[in-house]
Amino acid sequence: MYYTMLDYYLKLFDSGKREFAFHAENLAEYAVWKKALRERLADISGLDRCIPCEPLHQHVSTETVEGFTAEYHTLQTEPGVVMPYYLLRPEDNAGMVPAGKRPALIVPHGHGGAKRQVLIHQSRFIREALEDGFIVACPDERGSGERREFPEQGDEAAQARSNSHRELSQLGLNFGRTVIGGAVWDLMRLADRLLDEPEASGFLACAGMSGGGQQTLWFSAMDDRVSAAVTSGYFYGVRDALMELPQNCACNYVPHFFETADMGELGALIAPRPFFVESGADDPLSGKRRVANVTEQLDVTRAAYRLFGAEDRVRHSVHDGGHEWRGDGMREFLRQAMGK
Ligand SMILES: [Zn+2]
Repeated sequence: MYYTMLDYYLKLFDSGKREFAFHAENLAEYAVWKKALRERLADISGLDRCIPCEPLHQHVSTETVEGFTAEYHTLQTEPGVVMPYYLLRPEDNAGMVPAGKRPALIVPHGHGGAKRQVLIHQSRFIREALEDGFIVACPDERGSGERREFPEQGDEAAQARSNSHRELSQLGLNFGRTVIGGAVWDLMRLADRLLDEPEASGFLACAGMSGGGQQTLWFSAMDDRVSAAVTSGYFYGVRDALMELPQNCACNYVPHFFETADMGELGALIAPRPFFVESGADDPLSGKRRVANVTEQLDVTRAAYRLFGAEDRVRHSVHDGGHEWRGDGMREFLRQAMGK
């Protein structure tokens, strides 16, 4: 006999309401709601507790990584917190790129890898983005890749867990911090840098799979500088997904989030910017109702876009697979978002 807690928490969720559930009926109400929800999310995620610092930056080397020519950079994002990232530049046959012409794309990675793995799993998407003129940045998230804490370091099979999100969640919890709050902060600092390049056009896209989709969703929800967002394998109602599958990584859990909002509201914060959601019809991480748990949330998001007359800027692509990135339609989506 087991006397468990999950049903208790599901009832708590069902009996309560999300304080920032989306109900705005006009743009003025939307603006008030957006500002208040962002402030709350910055508070509960610990984003607003991150410490500004000198953005010490170094271009360390240029390497060939998984067939790409990748510049290896490091950037200090908080005092003593260093984020390494790859920077990939498009080949430009015409020579110098005119100032202000280069769009930027950040590709945050998911679990089971770090910056190197996106160059494997999303290689076609990244190659096409480079062909379309994007400068592409692939960072390591806190706790992943070269940012793992000591118990998970090394590349031996014995290091079964590929990240230190549990440790960072536990440490951060006691300072009002979360893994996703820190990740969003780091992506904001990377955006500072990319948008500051003389050749930057000001167009910034973010696209990620799974944990990279989670980072994309939160980053885009919290920062209007993201011009277009692509999330794959990470957009669904929290009840079926994060609650009924509590074995999900600790980075998915933010204090009070289940009392605050759902993913549909995170999507609504991105309105009216172009937003692409990719789902696998048989992705178990979407929960037992699969895509129905995605479309319910997208309906909430679309209600916000409707206020702007911009419902056509939300795209939902459902493929026949599971928890995997396909990328179909994303190139056209980004081209259209750039007005090409
Ligand atoms: Zn995680």
